[in-house]
Amino acid sequence: MTDDTATTDLLAPDPLTVARALDGADQLATYRERFVGVPDGTGVTAYFDGNSLGRPTLASVERVQRFLVDGWGGRLIRGWDEEWMELPFTIGDALGDAALGAGAGQTFIGDSTTVVLYKLARAAVDARPGRTQIVLDTDNFPTDRYLLDGIARERSLDLVWIEADTEAGVTPEQVAAVVGPQTALVVLSQVAYRSGFLADVPAITRIAHDAGALVLWDLCHSAGSVPVELDAWGVDLAAGCTYKYLNGGPGSPAFGYVAASLQSELTQPIQGWMGARDVFTMGPEYRPADGIRRFISGTPPVVGMLAMQDTIAMIAEAGIDAVRAKSVALTEYAVALADEWLAPLGATLASPRETERRGGHVTVNHPAMREVTAALWEQDVIPDYRDPNGLRIGLSPLSTSFEEVWRGMSAVRDVLGELTHD
Ligand SMILES: *Cc1c(COP(=O)(O)O)cnc(C)c1O
Repeated sequence: MTDDTATTDLLAPDPLTVARALDGADQLATYRERFVGVPDGTGVTAYFDGNSLGRPTLASVERVQRFLVDGWGGRLIRGWDEEWMELPFTIGDALGDAALGAGAGQTFIGDSTTVVLYKLARAAVDARPGRTQIVLDTDNFPTDRYLLDGIARERSLDLVWIEADTEAGVTPEQVAAVVGPQTALVVLSQVAYRSGFLADVPAITRIAHDAGALVLWDLCHSAGSVPVELDAWGVDLAAGCTYKYLNGGPGSPAFGYVAASLQSELTQPIQGWMGARDVFTMGPEYRPADGIRRFISGTPPVVGMLAMQDTIAMIAEAGIDAVRAKSVALTEYAVALADEWLAPLGATLASPRETERRGGHVTVNHPAMREVTAALWEQDVIPDYRDPNGLRIGLSPLSTSFEEVWRGMSAVRDVLGELTHD
């Protein structure tokens, strides 16, 4: 790794003192106490996987219990009319407002990210008849690539691949080089799941629009950590996970965004009763509802939508810009420690060094990282591993302290040191 002038400053007089000072000055420090296992110290030694499965909040423990007893147990089927039917849209609006820069009536919760991406991508290509290509990149998350391959076959379209650098990501220049009059849709991730590269969403969106194409952004590794301005950037479509930085819990349903101006033009392929114009008429044929409702399909997954509400409320309270500022500080500190401790052991940074091009996680490559990760998990230090050689350090801003980064990175250094010495 290069350029250690900046990192030296960031670690003086010594890394632990720096971590404690950063925690002392952290305006979001008290949010950590709102997570299960953190205040009482029963949690893991260091959790670096909040970008894969966020921690639960104490508020959610209470909310889930209250729901089971009073909501489900007390209201029984009346709950649907009283509240639950509208939850996909009320929670969607709250998320749109707190973290996505999306005005009301454009965001819904429902289905897995995979299914939401499928529905929005299919709706988009069908809205560009005569255009034959979908643009995507070689390093997008597998589900994105697989489902677009399926759509291309269903609709007799061609996939146009951008070769993405696995230690960086897709640039506006690369998109400009491949879009044209045949492009129906461009599908990319804002934050690359492997490298953490932060794509230039407004520039790429403009380039796609200039070619007459629609754009679908995968926001799985951004929502709740990186500010997004879907309305201001003119984004057409977006989808993302709620179990990562939004702490919705294992398998909690995804969100989808459809710009208001496009909603009446698009029809999605899973024509279920819940997206119909009049849900309870149960008429002979499907007529899509007006507005965002037409993008849901089946019964809202109410239990799965409980926990995310507490994190959306915390982000609204803290402000997404403050969350991002802490995220940047956490990843800068982690990069400095990687330079100081892991580079001498042969590791290399596989994430952008520039903070403006980096999301909420940092990846460090070394041929031994698969074994290192397995050994760390045994010690309750939890990063995650991504092929080919990457140790991925996800730093969820509201639940991670700088001292936790210090503890976890110390363990990475020790384990990598032992394994490379052997
Ligand atoms: C985590 C992730 C997904 C996951 O999709 P699921 O349907 O929830 O399994 C999709 N895309 C990206 C970019 C991801 O990071």
